[in-house]
Amino acid sequence: MPTSTVENYVKQIYLQQQSRAADLLPMGQLAAAMNVVPGTATAMVKTLAESGLVEYEPRGGIRLTEGGARLALHVLRRHRIIEAFLVDVLGLDWSQVHEEAELLEHVVSDKVLDRMDALLNHPQYDPHGDPIPTSQGDIAEQAILPLMSCKSGDQAIVARVSDQDPEFLQYIERHGLVPGTQINVSSLNTLADSVEVRLPKDKTVVLGSNAAAKILVRPHIAG
Ligand SMILES: [Zn+2]
Repeated sequence: MPTSTVENYVKQIYLQQQSRAADLLPMGQLAAAMNVVPGTATAMVKTLAESGLVEYEPRGGIRLTEGGARLALHVLRRHRIIEAFLVDVLGLDWSQVHEEAELLEHVVSDKVLDRMDALLNHPQYDPHGDPIPTSQGDIAEQAILPLMSCKSGDQAIVARVSDQDPEFLQYIERHGLVPGTQINVSSLNTLADSVEVRLPKDKTVVLGSNAAAKILVRPHIAG
């Protein structure tokens, strides 16, 4: 069984590659994401390459092999089902569950995970709006875009919050912007770098571009 360090690296390579157009992930970006010095990341990546989980080009960067991607999706599946379980069944606050899932994702058995999944009625998305890979390793591709790139008058549904920082998540929750919420972009002010959003019950909230960039939405056609 892969160690939790191996699982964390493979998962992080997958997540970092999601946010890039390029095929190869630079070592520096991986080291920063893992919060280690580049030497540490390089040593680990060489071990991963020996296990056949990644391909590593010393001057180019890293890419997951098919086996590496399969492991990454498996870890993400565990992580996201655990988050859904902690929120929906145990009633934990959604801003707190990421840290718990980081630990539990490495120890939960397939048997327990499958029971959690069944009890939750096979959810497609976790509480942050991230798609949950199937046990076959399929994952929904979503046409989502940052709130900041919407236009005035656009209708959208909050799809995902890309920042897992508990304080940011609590801020988002206080303003009622959790995934699944239907919103209306009432005005976009590029000069002030802010966006005003109308929520259900005629609530409005103004977000700076920094916060709005971390909120991803699925465009929605009314009706
Ligand atoms: Zn999480």
